[in-house]
Amino acid sequence: MVDILGCTFVALTYMFLALGEGIVVFQLIPLWFTKNNEYTWAGIFWMIIYNICMILAIISHLKALLGDPGYTPNLQIPDSIPLERLRYCDRCSQWKPERTHHCSTCQRCIQKMDHHCPWINNCVGAKNQKSFVLFLVYVFLVCLLTLIIMSSITYWYFTRSSKRVVSGSLFLFIASVMTSIFALTFMLFTAIMFWEQLWAIIHNQTEVEEMNRRIAPQKPIFENLKNSMGISVIMWWNPFAEPPEPDYMEPLEVQPKTESSTWVYWVGYAVCGCVILAATFIIVKVIWIK
Ligand SMILES: [Zn+2]
Ligand SMILES: [Zn+2]
Repeated sequence: MVDILGCTFVALTYMFLALGEGIVVFQLIPLWFTKNNEYTWAGIFWMIIYNICMILAIISHLKALLGDPGYTPNLQIPDSIPLERLRYCDRCSQWKPERTHHCSTCQRCIQKMDHHCPWINNCVGAKNQKSFVLFLVYVFLVCLLTLIIMSSITYWYFTRSSKRVVSGSLFLFIASVMTSIFALTFMLFTAIMFWEQLWAIIHNQTEVEEMNRRIAPQKPIFENLKNSMGISVIMWWNPFAEPPEPDYMEPLEVQPKTESSTWVYWVGYAVCGCVILAATFIIVKVIWIK
């Protein structure tokens, strides 16, 4: 079954990424970071760093989109499971481990299902949560670089005497303003989503489990990070390095009603908001320096 909403969001994702690449890499850097038709050192630097982040964002997205989100295999029911904890999925006709949830869009059982995400047209689960997190990180960096490059160009435009205005640049100007607005919006969006995913990982709890007021046994934060992102910290940032196999025997408990650390969660949101506001303020300030 084709999910129209998911396909539309995926198409939008690539349209936004293509807009960033087209405007920044193919228009603005060649126009503003060149001298006598040759790239300056700053131009080469921005070109390399921007394309690295863009490629990593696309690889992470493709892995999250096309990869296995954590489809629960048809496992033999272990004898050690008490009868009262035994769950069965009628739709998949198989044992449903405690941290498995059946996704009605994917029509499959998914281990550690967090949510079904239209941006990747797939579930976020045990096996692709890392790819999803990396997608958020690299899109955030692409947006940040876009805004830095845009604001330096705007600054030069108002401070340098020789303005590089070329014919037909009104279109480029409008496209640049639109790209900046999209970059700012997605920077905020990815920062919030990243904080939510990080919170879920360090608490070893999915969004589905949180809604059902269930929680897995608590482990040290670093161990939870390693279970979701991979054993080696350096490899956390590599979209090709796979996280460890999920533990289908992991039990769930009823979540205690009072969560003393809830305020930290909201502080995280506030920090995301402040960072974005500060970035906006600096960019606007740079734009208005004449
Ligand atoms: Zn199922
Ligand atoms: Zn799903």
